[in-house]
Amino acid sequence: MSRLRILFAASEVYPFAKTGGLADVAHALPRALIGSFDVHVVLPLYRSIDRQQYEIMPVGEAFEISMGKSVYSVQLFGCTYQGVQYRFVDSPLLSDREFLYGPPEAGYEDNAIRFGIFNYAIIRMLEASKFDIAHLNDWQCGLVPLLLRDRPSIGTNTLFTIHNLAYQGIFPSTVLNDLGIDESYFTMEGIEFYGQINFMKAGIAYAEMVTTVSPTYAREILSEAFGCGLEGFLESHRHKLAGVLNGIDTEHFSPRNDTSLLTPYEDLKGKRLNKSDYLKSIDLKGVNKPLFVFIGRYTWQKGMELLMNILPKIASFECNIAILGEGEAKYSEKLQELSDVYQNVDVHIGYDEVLSHRMYAAADFLLMPSLFEPCGLNQLIAFSYGALPVVHHVGGLVDTVKRFEKFDSSSKNGFGITFERPTERSFLNAISKAMSLYEDKPRYNAIIKHNMSRDFSWQESSKAYGALYTSLIREGK
Ligand code: ADP
Repeated sequence: MSRLRILFAASEVYPFAKTGGLADVAHALPRALIGSFDVHVVLPLYRSIDRQQYEIMPVGEAFEISMGKSVYSVQLFGCTYQGVQYRFVDSPLLSDREFLYGPPEAGYEDNAIRFGIFNYAIIRMLEASKFDIAHLNDWQCGLVPLLLRDRPSIGTNTLFTIHNLAYQGIFPSTVLNDLGIDESYFTMEGIEFYGQINFMKAGIAYAEMVTTVSPTYAREILSEAFGCGLEGFLESHRHKLAGVLNGIDTEHFSPRNDTSLLTPYEDLKGKRLNKSDYLKSIDLKGVNKPLFVFIGRYTWQKGMELLMNILPKIASFECNIAILGEGEAKYSEKLQELSDVYQNVDVHIGYDEVLSHRMYAAADFLLMPSLFEPCGLNQLIAFSYGALPVVHHVGGLVDTVKRFEKFDSSSKNGFGITFERPTERSFLNAISKAMSLYEDKPRYNAIIKHNMSRDFSWQESSKAYGALYTSLIREGK
């Protein structure tokens, strides 16, 4: 059998455009799959993407998309990067914006139309060239399975992956016409959601298979606490729902070869050099004190309330704390205030890939008090860089971080400090455990070394996706 052709569509892909974990996955998973499949990746050509650096050129395909009463012109661009073929969708309304989706933790008002264009462009690509599978990621690609229903001659099978159910792409029902979607889809079984339209719901309803990014999250989203209003709907599609754990690109996230680091390293001595360089760079003292790091979006999801409420208490310990992220203004402002008050707290507002790598390299502990976490990549990166994760045991953090109290050097898992309930008390208790463990150097070092030697790559999970693709083709449409 010739290799299956996969069109992998995502609204962000590292290194071209990234706001979070989706970009990492959309970079690393296709790379892991190209040995066995003919994978092409498609994303929007945002203004911020550096065309020259990646030699992104027009591929000689330009067309018009009619949606509702409007016509949008689209041009396709392409490049090959690290062995993967990329296609970029360029259309002024979609592409020519300062941000991908809107300012941090906000959305542009016309996102339905912008990503509608992206979805129709994907359909055009599927029409123009035969693909066996379209692997569609998150709400920004959710209309494709619905649009394919009306175009049975295309014959592509669809796999829809939910990276975060909290972002569903919900818009007023008035845009249904502007998107050129027939009213017959505006039902409880289809795209309708409490009188509005919901892109993610369309993806779940009409894709042949749905996955999410960890087995625990796949179970959690069937409950009211984690289902974001879609739990009942997901339950009715349970037969086609699976959880496949994310991995990381172990070449990109490798302290040994990391060009972002002043001193790439493979042992704890090398890590210590990175820690002292980093502390100097932010003017904090005390290389012997534990360094707690938080890297992530400043949103409710990431446990920001918990973090900010106990920050003064953590700061009263003999330790340093460094925080990097961007997001809701109320959190950024409060964090800035806290860093002005506490000498041992450094806060950096912004998105900075190089700085994030330096912080993973410097950190002794990585804080993840997330209220929910579909998979989480930070903890996997932290394992590789020898930082011990301190996590609320939820979602993918349950599947990836095992309790350090049960440390077993023969395990293939990574270990960290876990807390079961998202309360200030439990979180603080976990921090106290971290402080004590740090004092017990032989034990702490043994766990760190173990974590650094484990495999968190896409090796296993890309095989799981490969098996799903093959089963979709076998079962046929
Ligand atoms: P998310 O819910 O944001 O997708 P993940 O844990 O899945 O969370 O992935 C987060 C990714 O984004 C990781 O690679 C992390 O290092 C990176 N990241 C998050 N915030 C920042 C930031 N402010 N600067 C640099 N990298 C960041």
